[in-house]
Amino acid sequence: MKKLFFTILVLVSFSATGQNYIQDSMTIKRISNYVLSNANCYEDLRHLCKQIGHRLTGSSQAAQAVDWGKKTLEDAGCDKVFLQEVMVPHWVRGEEEAYYEVNGKRYGMKITSLGNAVGTGEAGIKTPIVMVNDIHEFNRLPESEVRGKIIFFNYHFDQTNINTFHSYGPCVFYRWAAPSRASAKGAAAVVIRSVSSAYDDEPHTGVLSYDERYPQIPAIAVGNTTADKLVEAVENNKRPKIYMRTTCKMLKDVKSYNVVGEIYGTELPKEIICFGGHLDSWDVGEGAHDDGAGVVQSIDAIRTFKKLGIRPKRTIRCVLWMNEENGARGAKEYMRQAKLKNENHILAIESDAGGATPYGFGLTMPSYKKDKVQSWKKLFYPYNIYNFSRSGGGVDINPLHKEFDTPTMGLIPDGHRYFDMHHSDNDVFENVHRRELCMGTIAMTMMVYLVSQHGL
Ligand SMILES: [Zn+2]
Repeated sequence: MKKLFFTILVLVSFSATGQNYIQDSMTIKRISNYVLSNANCYEDLRHLCKQIGHRLTGSSQAAQAVDWGKKTLEDAGCDKVFLQEVMVPHWVRGEEEAYYEVNGKRYGMKITSLGNAVGTGEAGIKTPIVMVNDIHEFNRLPESEVRGKIIFFNYHFDQTNINTFHSYGPCVFYRWAAPSRASAKGAAAVVIRSVSSAYDDEPHTGVLSYDERYPQIPAIAVGNTTADKLVEAVENNKRPKIYMRTTCKMLKDVKSYNVVGEIYGTELPKEIICFGGHLDSWDVGEGAHDDGAGVVQSIDAIRTFKKLGIRPKRTIRCVLWMNEENGARGAKEYMRQAKLKNENHILAIESDAGGATPYGFGLTMPSYKKDKVQSWKKLFYPYNIYNFSRSGGGVDINPLHKEFDTPTMGLIPDGHRYFDMHHSDNDVFENVHRRELCMGTIAMTMMVYLVSQHGL
């Protein structure tokens, strides 16, 4: 009797799983067909990039993006769309010019101030450069060699990593922390080799962080080919000088918003799955990959649920965060509101690694939850989504994880070209491919669908 009962139990649970599997794979195929043939995300991205343009926090374009995001989520058919007010930093770039000088001859340089940096003042700064290849070399320099000079951090993006994000982290140290390290020894300004995998002359911006203990000094980036020329001049003992004039500055905080749109769950509406990207971008290029792609994919996930008449059992919530790039104030405010309302986020997903072909999700969650996600692998394989082995999150959802231990995921697209474009004039709509972008939408929608039906 006991054995019979066990056999029936196994059969029932097996057929239930089998039924789920067939139903899920059919729904997922419908999702994929719909997205690939309708491609709303691509046209949305065109609008965001070409009609609005880059969207630095505090700018009028960022405000336009908020209005656009709200209207687009309303048109997508959300049950509810709302804004979360948040005060954000307002940094402006102003003017910038620079050249380097070798044997009295001047060579123009394309530069970009690092985000949140101070300017040089109207007169600019001109000094011989002191080049170091990394922070260890810099640490060995006596203060007398640094004081009053422009320090050139010639740290290279490591081309040997297959996962380019592994090269990004070590480089970012120089963008983030080197200006204050140099200031601590009395440097006048800092130049960094761009955090870039491209063999071109595009400078890449990105946020820096000043250490309050030291004076804030100007900091700029140069493209890889200009950096190579500076290296050559230094190595040939030509004692190059740099002139730079930048007028960037931080203004008073301004009011801005996160944009949130949701579809209520039919059975467990209090369990929330949030997913999204960030509306703001740097003020160079068009913020197409970073992070227009994540924004339009997330909106399209909502639209796809509505168009196909899929009712999620749990609440699904698309969030377009503000100020990811130079403050993460939107991320902090979103978490604060979630705490205030005692919301239960069962999962947060961020798409903020570009709009290229996706091949997996990074997962940060306890192993029994990972096992549940891994059990869906077979459903993802037909779409070439196969990698669930890394950890994952994002600047906008990390506060949720920190405060509530919310499980987080990051979409993983192919990263070979991402750091050629990231935070530079190369990050434009033309560099995003329609099908690749759509595959990201499909991956996000699939994951949101599976968790909305089966929990986590
Ligand atoms: Zn981003």
